[in-house]
Amino acid sequence: MLDTGRTARRLESYVQGAWRAGAGEGKPLANAATGEVHAYIGSDGLDFAAALAWGREVGGAGLRAHTVHERALMLKAIGLKLMEMKDEFHAESLATGATPKDAWPDIDGGIGTLLTFASQARRELPNAKVIPEGAVETLSRDGSFVAQHILVPMRGVAIHINAFNFPVWGMLEKIAPALIAGMPCLVKPASSTAYVTELVVRRILEMGILPDGALQIVCGGVGDMLDHVTGQDVVTFTGSATTGRKLKSHPAIIANSVRFTMEADSLNAAILGPDAGPDTPEFDLFIKEVHREMTAKAGQKCTAIRRIIVPKAVEADVIAALSARLAKTPAGLPDAADTRLGALASLGDRDGVREKIAEIAREAEIVFGDPDKVEVISGDAEKGAFLNPVLLRCTDPMNAHAPHEVEAFGPVATVMGYDGLDQAIALAMKGKGSLVSSVFTNDTDVAAQLVLGVAPFHGRVMLGNRDSAKSSTGHGAPLAPLVHGGPGRAGGGEEMGGMRGVKHFMMRTAVQGTPRLLSSVTGQWVAGAPAHQGTHPFRKSLAELRIGDQLVTESRVITEDDVEHFAHFTGDTFYAHMDSAAAKANPFFEDRVAHGYLIASFAAGLFVQPDPGPVLANYGVDNLRFLTPVYFGDSLQVQLTCKQINPREGTVYGEVRWDCRVTNQRGEVVAEYDVLTMVAKSWPLPQE
Ligand code: NDP
Repeated sequence: MLDTGRTARRLESYVQGAWRAGAGEGKPLANAATGEVHAYIGSDGLDFAAALAWGREVGGAGLRAHTVHERALMLKAIGLKLMEMKDEFHAESLATGATPKDAWPDIDGGIGTLLTFASQARRELPNAKVIPEGAVETLSRDGSFVAQHILVPMRGVAIHINAFNFPVWGMLEKIAPALIAGMPCLVKPASSTAYVTELVVRRILEMGILPDGALQIVCGGVGDMLDHVTGQDVVTFTGSATTGRKLKSHPAIIANSVRFTMEADSLNAAILGPDAGPDTPEFDLFIKEVHREMTAKAGQKCTAIRRIIVPKAVEADVIAALSARLAKTPAGLPDAADTRLGALASLGDRDGVREKIAEIAREAEIVFGDPDKVEVISGDAEKGAFLNPVLLRCTDPMNAHAPHEVEAFGPVATVMGYDGLDQAIALAMKGKGSLVSSVFTNDTDVAAQLVLGVAPFHGRVMLGNRDSAKSSTGHGAPLAPLVHGGPGRAGGGEEMGGMRGVKHFMMRTAVQGTPRLLSSVTGQWVAGAPAHQGTHPFRKSLAELRIGDQLVTESRVITEDDVEHFAHFTGDTFYAHMDSAAAKANPFFEDRVAHGYLIASFAAGLFVQPDPGPVLANYGVDNLRFLTPVYFGDSLQVQLTCKQINPREGTVYGEVRWDCRVTNQRGEVVAEYDVLTMVAKSWPLPQE
């Protein structure tokens, strides 16, 4: 068992199936708040080419042996166990300088992200090893040549090079989509806080849930690793733009067209609408949010607000209100109850932030705080990496550069006034691409104008007003279902975004061929592929049901009485069903037509097998289209074909998608849709 007590420990890397310390004693890592040595790090002498090879061969094969849902369930199991262990991670995280409140988004938020991915994947992706994407394209008149895109896991390793500020979330938000996709991961945490990441990876590996090789970690430099990447590997990077650009232009990355996702500097803005004067709830919300984003994690957040864009008329009010709040934000030891501002991650970071403040101050004045004077209510102001908040004001922001370009990665932001919405948008754009901006307004026109103006420069825009004051997830919180990333300066990358994030680690391939062959590849029935009729498919459990099992029903003639009855029974007396003259005046119809929902209802009456059986429930239809009008006297027939079977892990049922086509007496398709049902894995159901 790892000793996570007070003695400085030597971090190890987990590569090629074993924990390995690099050569030598390693570089000391200081506790951010006390300056004491907390751990030693180093990866000298490790064989990085062999680590990648082991990940590809052992980890990749192990993950690909499972379906998407099985992999998602592994993550769910890991997430639940990590939640039970989180106190240990919180204790370790104190050494990074983060207060327990600051560590919440990193640790609890990271585990929550893992669990969200695990659940969304099982809801939205098939329980299969290949993911068909989009509609089947018909490429020939007779339907004998069709195409569909499929997604399969890349055959390489996902190398995640992470930043120091989110040692847990930064890892989990990246390995979750990659592992669900079926790609093994190699995590390289930033050195200064790697001890937290290493601890979490140890705990994950001890669980024995992941296949061998699915997760490796390198604590220390990655040496010549990037020399060995292939076109099947994926590299994700979070950190400074300088390092990001260097790695992105690594010869092996370029030569092998390696997918490279980068998240770098971001001068995120918060914009106060012209309607949100000092007497409005939006003004107060704005001040609270800016204060929180300046001081949470001591401002060492990629989404922190760096630029405070406000109407010129209220600039002084904003500075006064913010300064009053910042004055009540004492810095101190992260675990002390009255601390409101923890330490930066290292003394080096503090030096760096001070340099950046000096650069910005060439084009702005400091209106609150003194970067060179540190006041703490606990701890040692010099040995700990403390820095009190600094607020600047730029009087000519349209012509200034540094406030829009220099990211002081600490509790630092610059207020800048605007004249008119166009100027507010122009100022936001001067960040040249950011992760997120927020707009505080209660005016719909202002919201629309500002969001549409700044959207091309942002991965996410949050609207804040009085109605969402309690429910808003806030400016700074990236969420698993939403895109995290931004254009230009922010790196041009896109992470998370729900299942889109999973697809970053998969190859999209267009497959063309006959319906029969395509169906064998995707595991889904494609119109034109062979179908088998016989026992009513609703009598078959998942154990017996096969893709292509089909029912062709009797016909049913639609009468005027049917339409009259349906209209009065449901209350849908829309004129096209009731009034011949009015229907004829409608360009789509020649006379009164049957209701679309009557067609769908009669179709169910035709295809259903009414006895208790393995079909447990109908939970909806997808892509319902009414294609041809149905007139009195038309005769309807249904062809229902089992299209996709999705057994659910851990339950007695699975989802079955049926291709449903309703045709008239001329063979024209009048309605087309997918029927979605829950079907028992075996019938009768097992007794509890
Ligand atoms: P770095 O770019 O120095 O480091 C980021 C990651 O890259 C770390 O894991 C680092 O490892 C690694 N790395 C550095 N050099 C190499 C290399 N040659 N080959 C492979 N990996 C390498 O950024 P920092 O984390 O030090 O942060 C510096 C600045 O970046 C911050 O002050 C801030 O301005 C910005 N930043 C932006 C973030 C954002 O999301 N917008 C997030 C975090 C930082 P190691 O630590 O071992 O050197």
